[in-house]
Amino acid sequence: MTMSGTPKIVIIGCGISGIAAAQRLVNGGFTDVRILEATARSGGRIKTGRFGNNIVEIGANWIHGPSEENPVFCLARQYKLLDPEALSPENQGMDIGGHPPWVPNVFSSSGDQLINAEDIYPAQDMFVELLYESSQYQSQGGEPWPSVGEFIRSEVRQRAAEQWKDIDAATRSLRMSVISNLMKAECCVNGAHSMDEVGLGAYGIYKTLPGLDCTFPGGYEGLIKNLMSELPSGLVTYNRPVSCVHWNSSEQRENPVVVECDDGEKIAADHVIVTVPLGYLKKHHSTLFRPPLPLHKLHSIQRLGFGTNNKIFVEFDSPFWDADCEVIYLLWDDEDALVQQVTDVQRSWLQKLFGFTVLKPTERYGHILCGWIAGHESEYMETLSEQEVTHAITQLIRRFTGNPILTPKRILRSQWFHDPWTCGSYTCPGKGCSAQDLENMMESLPTKGSQSQPLQVMFAGEATHPFYFSTVHGALLSGWREADRLISHYSKSKL
Ligand SMILES: Cc1cc2nc3c(=O)[nH]c(=O)nc-3n(C[C@H](O)[C@H](O)[C@H](O)COP(=O)(O)OP(=O)(O)OC[C@H]3O[C@@H](n4cnc5c(N)ncnc54)[C@H](O)[C@@H]3O)c2cc1C
Repeated sequence: MTMSGTPKIVIIGCGISGIAAAQRLVNGGFTDVRILEATARSGGRIKTGRFGNNIVEIGANWIHGPSEENPVFCLARQYKLLDPEALSPENQGMDIGGHPPWVPNVFSSSGDQLINAEDIYPAQDMFVELLYESSQYQSQGGEPWPSVGEFIRSEVRQRAAEQWKDIDAATRSLRMSVISNLMKAECCVNGAHSMDEVGLGAYGIYKTLPGLDCTFPGGYEGLIKNLMSELPSGLVTYNRPVSCVHWNSSEQRENPVVVECDDGEKIAADHVIVTVPLGYLKKHHSTLFRPPLPLHKLHSIQRLGFGTNNKIFVEFDSPFWDADCEVIYLLWDDEDALVQQVTDVQRSWLQKLFGFTVLKPTERYGHILCGWIAGHESEYMETLSEQEVTHAITQLIRRFTGNPILTPKRILRSQWFHDPWTCGSYTCPGKGCSAQDLENMMESLPTKGSQSQPLQVMFAGEATHPFYFSTVHGALLSGWREADRLISHYSKSKL
């Protein structure tokens, strides 16, 4: 490709979206491309860590929908990072609609028995059906409730009264506790404090791909390492937080944008691709852009949700769960009323943890569980010492199993809310959101109709994908999208 002049392009952030944008631009013939990254590493929310003799994912875990349409799957296959099972046509063909059919073990807070998994299926089926119905309001409009949480609570009450009227009180109460638990799990999936914060009309904007979710046996960061090895060395400057993007700037005669770093350095550019997380944008938009962002863009940043989902890894010498178990649900006996809980976070934060997924295969990991906790309780957990978290988890597991001597070998938790460059986990469709908000997120500056030089500030990152937001593939595609926008801009201006 030939270009008039050599445009200077600065990418802010070296997560998967920033890397994808750089890769595409370099392959497209752009020679003056650099990435400024606040931390000392690449990968952002793709972060593989050590846990005893194992590796675990502190951030992204699965390829959601590993099939031909998923570019993360295609790259992982190309770099030979996946197990043969994940590559099989059967795996790619499974359409799970975002809900993997995991084999559960179910424990209750009374700690007296392992609940028969079949007893939870009627409640689980009703919940999955209601999530499906929630996703339909995006195309139908006219949603009866503002949020998914309110819709599900109201429908469950009604349907339980009709469909479960002849069921004994104990079984009904168990089913209601299952629904409460699945609501907590859904908060983790959405990265939301409560499903009352997820818009009913917006819930269906998110799209899933076919394929049974799979993991990277050698760690998700293998994908980052492979992509980075294809970029020219020295393209990334680490430990270089950007403090302000001055656009429509007259400071430099030749370049309309000046990127100011924390250390005072000023870098002139023709185009800046901003890939910082939505959580960071929510907190710092007012200082990050000069002039400030246009109001419609700012409102979309505010309307879209960006909550917290954290993991707590717990290792045991031997399992207290069945050999085929893939998920452990913890049911609280006092959560059968389906009311929106107003909890004393400091005292009962751990009640928000819906349970654990089991790291598989056992031959590779031994006996490691991954606990999931979302929302303000998760943010509070981050403020506790590792010792306090270990103590709380030990008490919880002893209570639910009824085994007073069960002791974890080690514990490790993520702290995404207090990560200063992320400020949460990932994007969710908040109450009152629409597809327009995601369009606004990806809109470049200056906006259409302006006389100034176009494409000065561009936006990539998971929060800018119109329907794969919150995922690695959404982030990757958004980086390619912005690179393609520039490639197309310069090939047109050459004509
Ligand atoms: C706990 C957790 C579990 C997840 N699980 C999955 C999963 O199973 N599957 C899936 O597909 N997705 C998952 N995700 C989401 C996925 O990790 C993200 O969608 C994706 O990695 C985001 O990539 P990104 O490039 O948009 O942002 P990031 O990876 O966050 O990259 C942004 C980069 O910008 C840098 N930055 C921020 N501010 C500045 C600044 N001022 N100056 C310079 N640099 C800055 C940051 O340090 C970071 O490196 C998970 C995320 C979390 C937190």
